[in-house]
Amino acid sequence: TGGTVSTEHLYKILVIGDLGVGKTSIIKRYVHHNFSPNYRATIGVDFALKVLNLDQETVRLQLWDIAGQERFGNMTRVYYREAMGAFIVFDVTRPASFEAVTKWKEDLDSKVTLANGNHVATVLLANKCDQGRDVLTNNGIKMEQFCQENGFVGWFETSAKFGTADRHHILSKVFYQASIL
Ligand code: GDP
Ligand code: MG
Repeated sequence: TGGTVSTEHLYKILVIGDLGVGKTSIIKRYVHHNFSPNYRATIGVDFALKVLNLDQETVRLQLWDIAGQERFGNMTRVYYREAMGAFIVFDVTRPASFEAVTKWKEDLDSKVTLANGNHVATVLLANKCDQGRDVLTNNGIKMEQFCQENGFVGWFETSAKFGTADRHHILSKVFYQASIL
C-alpha cells in the first residue's frame, strides 16, 4: 500500500515517585516483561527504551528511572529537562506515598513546561495493586476527581509483580493522546 507516511517520535518520559513504590519494577515489567522481588535501590538515573508502533507512527519512549533519594533536590531540574510525559507512581499499601504524589506533581510542574507552555502530560499509577487497595478505598478518595483537580490525564492500577503494568496499549495511548494535543 503506497502513500502511507510513517513518522517517528522520541519522547522522554519520567518515572517518578517515592522510594520503593515500584518505579524500577514497572519499567522492567513494561520494557523487559519480567519482575524481581529482590529490592535494589536505583542509584542515580537509568534509561530504558520502549518502542511502540501506533497507527502510522513509531513512538520511542525513553523512560527515565529516577532514584527516590533525589526527591525535590536541585538534581530533579536536570532530570526533568525536555520531558514530554511523566508517570507518577505510588504504592497502594503506603498512604504516605500517595500523599507525596501532589508534591511530585508540584515539583515537576514548577521545573518543566512543554514548548507550547502546557504542563508535562502526567499519568498516575497506583502500583502494587496485588497487595490490596488500602489507599484507594480509605478516606473516600475519588481517583477520577483527584486526577482532575491535580492535573493528571488519567490513572491506572498496576502490579509490576503480576504484569498489569504491561498494559502498554492503554498507557501508551494516554501519552499518545496527550502528546498530540
Ligand atoms: P523504586 O524504588 O520505586 O524503584 O521501587 P522498586 O521497583 O525497586 O520496588 C521496590 C520493592 O517493591 C521491590 O522489592 C519490588 O520487588 C517490590 N514491588 C514493586 N512493584 C511491585 C508490585 O506491583 N507488587 C508487589 N507485590 N511488589 C512490588
Ligand atoms: Mg528504583
